[in-house]
Amino acid sequence: MTECQRCHKPMKTAAANMLCTSCRTDYWAMIYQLGHVQLPALRSIMLRQAHIGTPAHTPNKGNAPLPIDVRAQDLIADSEAWLAEQAGKIRAAYAAYDWRKAWYAIISNRHTILNMPTAADDYASLQHISRRNEQALTPEEAMVIIGTCPKCGHQAASTPQAETWTCPDCKWQGGVQAIKAERDNKLWQLEYTGKPVEVARYLAKMDIHCTSDQIRQWLTRGKLHATPTKHKGEYVFNLGEITAMLDCHN
Ligand SMILES: [Zn+2]
Ligand SMILES: [Zn+2]
Repeated sequence: MTECQRCHKPMKTAAANMLCTSCRTDYWAMIYQLGHVQLPALRSIMLRQAHIGTPAHTPNKGNAPLPIDVRAQDLIADSEAWLAEQAGKIRAAYAAYDWRKAWYAIISNRHTILNMPTAADDYASLQHISRRNEQALTPEEAMVIIGTCPKCGHQAASTPQAETWTCPDCKWQGGVQAIKAERDNKLWQLEYTGKPVEVARYLAKMDIHCTSDQIRQWLTRGKLHATPTKHKGEYVFNLGEITAMLDCHN
């Protein structure tokens, strides 16, 4: 009995395998995604041939946009370095390949890559790269606000699937669930003025999901103590109260 070098689940057979079947599948999918989707997409963003989500606001007068997107350039450099390193492990000369050839070399040497003694570490560094790429490639509208950075207070936004978050400002890193829990504790201090549909939409940005119908029902049944404003259909909601209602209904 040996164990997977990455997830540490016991594996029955093939002592030569560094990774269990499920980690091998995930690893291979990440490698494929990197060369097939992420790098080409990042390159067109870098060259400003593509936008993510709605086009950016027109820049302030006198502030011409940079000719290339520097953030995408960083992500590309990290991704390409990973590919070059792996390709170089297959054959030293491959390390000098451009990224596309390096990726092809990796794709055509599946067995070698998956059984590399360093596979578990390579997996971990690729996972980090891949998540950052994915985040950069996710339209801002699809990002959720998970809270704020506990160290510097920067707003923390991530893709809905993310498990960890790295602060773009101070580089603090931590689990998404913990940041969300911290945020949820503070929801009782937060008020939102608007119609039920608007507060539902606002909460959805924080990955808290309820429908405007639910909110209207709670209002009619007196379960929410939102104060009506002088505008028709508009209330001052306490966000903590809404999430507490959701907790006992889900
Ligand atoms: Zn595993
Ligand atoms: Zn921070």
